Amino acid sequence: MNKNEQSVIDRSTLYVVSTPIGNLGDITYRALEVLKNVDLIAAEDTRHTAIMLQHFLIKAHFTTLYDYNEKQKTTQLLKKLQEGQSIALVSNAGTPLINDPGYHLVRRCHESSIRVVPIPGACAASTALCASGIASDRFCYEGFLPKKSQARKNRMKVLAEESRTLIFYESTHRLVASLEDMVTIWGPKRYVVLARELTKTWESIYGLPVGALVLWVKEDDIRRRGEIVLIVTGYKRQENELPRNALRALSLLQNEMPLKRAAMIVATIYGIKKNALYKRILEEQSQKSIK
Ligand code: SAM
Repeated sequence: MNKNEQSVIDRSTLYVVSTPIGNLGDITYRALEVLKNVDLIAAEDTRHTAIMLQHFLIKAHFTTLYDYNEKQKTTQLLKKLQEGQSIALVSNAGTPLINDPGYHLVRRCHESSIRVVPIPGACAASTALCASGIASDRFCYEGFLPKKSQARKNRMKVLAEESRTLIFYESTHRLVASLEDMVTIWGPKRYVVLARELTKTWESIYGLPVGALVLWVKEDDIRRRGEIVLIVTGYKRQENELPRNALRALSLLQNEMPLKRAAMIVATIYGIKKNALYKRILEEQSQKSIK
């Protein structure tokens, strides 16, 4: 008898199963039910997942699905799903696909009319956000910043005027460098919460303006150890402040056409007042002529 025939699991279905990000007590009843009963578990690291399942006395058949074999493995898994098997996709921790493999598999399932069922649970990003004390009504998840400083700073420049709360994953080795780049690009006053080792014994959630946060982290090595999420307050535009991109567009366009016309185009694109733009440029020009 196939496992599906004795359980609540549906045939030909991919279950995307979240697992704990530290504290095993965070596994859900549904996750256990699914992991116990599916025909196959596709895991990022089978040994890692097997250890977790041992804790819950679950024996399972495994296959691997990680970044480097995902495309090729997807074809094999789709075939099994089409033949009627049920498969659970798990990552090492948290929600699959959130900075973890699984996107190609889920997409191909949709393209092939295979049912995909999410089994929600822990995710470091939402866990950190909900305890950060930073606005959670609008946020954007940015995953890891680039490893190299110049690329990281470029990304930060793109995000400089993002008004939604920003969520980053960060590694212990790059934490200080990333915080220092934030000070350089966004200034020392931007409020940032450092959430470390969530749900684990040494969990710590601490926020300061980023200039002070770098100093605080540097004071004690322990403050940068473990797994890290950074929650960054969104940009707050000052009254009468004009968007940086609008000013940049205007300075490029005014080389190509009369200033009035350039201001009108930029004002229309960015939904701002033409006169405010025009005034700002004239102010800048008069400052330059004084210098
Ligand atoms: N899929 C996972 C999720 O749902 O959050 C994320 C996987 S990603 C490869 C691993 C990163 O998530 C870590 O480097 C860290 O930035 C963050 N993370 C995972 N567990 C964490 C924890 N317990 N505390 C803080 N951050 C964590």
